[in-house]
Amino acid sequence: MLVIHTPAQWQTIRLQLIHSHKTLGLVPTMGALHQGHLDLVSRSLEKCDYTIVSIFVNPTQFNNPEDFDKYPQSLEQDLELLEQAGVDAVFVPTVETMYPKKPEITLDFGSLERVLEGAFRPGHFNGVGLVVSKLFHMIQPDIAFFGQKDLQQVAIIHRLVSEFCFPVKLDVVPTKREADGLAMSSRNRRLGDSQRKLALILFQSLSDAKKLLLKGHAWDAIKKSVETLFEKEEGVKLDYFSLVEREKFELLDSYDPAVKSSICVAAFVGEIRLIDNMPINA
Ligand code: AMP
Repeated sequence: MLVIHTPAQWQTIRLQLIHSHKTLGLVPTMGALHQGHLDLVSRSLEKCDYTIVSIFVNPTQFNNPEDFDKYPQSLEQDLELLEQAGVDAVFVPTVETMYPKKPEITLDFGSLERVLEGAFRPGHFNGVGLVVSKLFHMIQPDIAFFGQKDLQQVAIIHRLVSEFCFPVKLDVVPTKREADGLAMSSRNRRLGDSQRKLALILFQSLSDAKKLLLKGHAWDAIKKSVETLFEKEEGVKLDYFSLVEREKFELLDSYDPAVKSSICVAAFVGEIRLIDNMPINA
């Protein structure tokens, strides 16, 4: 497995792939890899002739400096996992490579980022848009793989690709969960034992709410009861629990089976902020 640090090291390989008509898959990550990331990798290995994974903890997408400082890192272990998985190359750039100077361009995704993650983490999607644009230009993948776990990010990247005409196809992979339902996340590593148990409240609320919605209960009442549940539980703090149309990310007041809908949740468990979501219909 090739480990590269600069776009210049990548260029000759990219040209060779083009000349030999090989398709290239990119899996962008921030490292601290888990089985969810490896599902994206497997999908790329299945669909593409050559797979490159990027590992870069992108400073511009962190609105909270402490979250950035404490973001888990385990490069050696990550490289081992990727080698075992059969990945062809890993791109591990430095901050200076990705941001030779402070970016002066900012990206605003309009209504897509006025809600949920965009509203609670100002500037987050600007950072995501910048780093994904840079990675697409540097790596030039045919297909890029993203997780449904970050549902709003998926909508943002679809918009980015369509508005900037990136010649990249997007492939969205379902959320990988622990046996008890907790969505896998690098941030789960920071949870203590009791917090790990508490964190299940996100998945349980999503599952219960979905059942009730499909039985015909009103969204308002469901949302209120989840908010009350979080208020009563010590050690957790809800940012949002919202029903959305999952392409334009419009907030919904009620469930209509004709509208592609998902429930999205974000909450703090202690100091650690977790997100999850669940589709209600296909
Ligand atoms: P991250 O390293 O957290 O930036 O995630 C890198 C990619 O992996 C993103 O496209 C995420 O949506 C995806 N991802 C993270 N967690 C999961 C999961 N539990 N299941 C599937 N994909 C995931």
